[in-house]
Amino acid sequence: MKDNAILRRATDPEGSRLHFQPFPNATMSTRTLQIDDALYDYLLNVSLREHPLLTELRAVTAKHVYSQMQISPEQGQFMALLVRLCGVRRAVEIGTFTGYSALSVALALPEDGKLIACDISEEFTAIGRPFWQRAGVAGKIDLRIGPAMATLDKLLSAGSAGEVDFIFIDADKGAYDEYYERCLQLIRQGGLIAFDNTLWGGKVAHAAADDDTRAIQALNRKLHGDERIDLSLVPIGDGLTLARKR
Ligand code: SAM
Ligand code: CA
Repeated sequence: MKDNAILRRATDPEGSRLHFQPFPNATMSTRTLQIDDALYDYLLNVSLREHPLLTELRAVTAKHVYSQMQISPEQGQFMALLVRLCGVRRAVEIGTFTGYSALSVALALPEDGKLIACDISEEFTAIGRPFWQRAGVAGKIDLRIGPAMATLDKLLSAGSAGEVDFIFIDADKGAYDEYYERCLQLIRQGGLIAFDNTLWGGKVAHAAADDDTRAIQALNRKLHGDERIDLSLVPIGDGLTLARKR
């Protein structure tokens, strides 16, 4: 049988016995596709529904020297869908940069929803704030400037354990595991933790030459065997691992 053949289940005319028929020319894939530029453009053309202020913020961020730190627009839309699917009211973001992911999440939150956005940089986040304002969601975003670890510890000591519905982790890669352990305390049962960059430009599949790659590889291995969560590594953007607290 050809590699790309798929099997079709069909009922035997004489009874309930099943047999299989190959489709030798099926243009389907049993593994995640490689996305070239043409297919990526197509994907955006037929599915992206970007709020005009997200489009504008993305254009501003594209001129920034660290523009590649921003998530992709289809990932922002996917995260917004997750927020709505999970009925998220309380969210936390670790790593805000110019505020594109925060704006994506905040737009998807209900009116009384809240996003605590953590970053160490006044300078980066100042780029996003006017966009949050103009989009009418500034009141939903509580920006905490300072090391995210301290902000998470403060939330825990203020009694927020088990109260958060959704957390997006997208800051310093070497600290992901420590963020994870705190986030597991903060997130409610059934809540979702999303880790960005878990495919790390493909470097995770090869022998690691640097600390960030090693940290992400170790985290991926740990999550794979972690019985506290349900797990999926979604190959969107640079890899987005979803962990649902059991
Ligand atoms: N989520 C953002 C987006 O999609 O536009 C991108 C975040 S960027 C990859 C990482 C951010 O983490 C940077 O803005 C950086 O200032 C911040 N950061 C780095 N170390 C941090 C720390 N220890 N605590 C809080 N934020 C930190
Ligand atoms: Ca990222």
